[in-house]
Amino acid sequence: MKIVYGPVASWRLGRSLGVDLICSEKKICTFDCIYCQLKEGKVTNKRDSFVSSEEVKKELKLALKQTTPDVITLSGMGEPTLAKNMNRTIEIIRELSDLPLAILTNSSLMNDENVQNSLKKIDIIVAKLDAHNQVLFENINRPAEGVTFEKTFAGIKSLRRHFNGKFAIQIMFMKENKEHAQELAELTKEICPDEVQINTPLRPCDVKPLSKRELDEIEKIFTGLNTISVYNSPKPKTDPLDKLELIKRRRLEP
Ligand code: SF4
Repeated sequence: MKIVYGPVASWRLGRSLGVDLICSEKKICTFDCIYCQLKEGKVTNKRDSFVSSEEVKKELKLALKQTTPDVITLSGMGEPTLAKNMNRTIEIIRELSDLPLAILTNSSLMNDENVQNSLKKIDIIVAKLDAHNQVLFENINRPAEGVTFEKTFAGIKSLRRHFNGKFAIQIMFMKENKEHAQELAELTKEICPDEVQINTPLRPCDVKPLSKRELDEIEKIFTGLNTISVYNSPKPKTDPLDKLELIKRRRLEP
């Protein structure tokens, strides 16, 4: 598996060149979300180094000679903030490119000071928030031991206060949380994000997506916040460097 993949056609980021700091055949994540496409893997909150920063440098240098994406995104086979060498890798990416740097994170380690310090160096944070309390958090995100809703939400709010880039909240809606859109909107208002990304699982997985009409109704509940929705956001055209790599990563679907 390669560390650098794409560009992926992202409805929220444009043509996104992925950098996978986990890069494992099976996912390594602090969550095991019921809608995750990556079924098998390890659920842990122990940070570790999974790929060397020098390997990232080598692959990214080569990829940037072959393609011009809109953004470089830390994302991949699990939760990118689990990578202990995230800070060094961000420095390397900055040395190689002036493109905006984004991260797709499940927010679970934002209460860790080292993670926060690294995240402050990123331009665009897309932070997951699918639940408004511990019970729903456990039902949907099935977190690693020690990862709680309270700590996760406190981490999001704390980082938001100290972050100068674009801060987006992404919420995956499905039957389990659609009746709690009001509570989620209230929590989201406390965070004051620059953008709210209203999503539903459209890629093949065990959870049925909500319809466009249901998602449009939910979006109305977030009135007053700057929302975008997966059904209403066109995806750009991309020309991936390696299509097989994207199929392996299940990133060719919507
Ligand atoms: S946070 Fe992302 S990678 Fe981790 S289990 Fe949830 S959907 Fe899968």
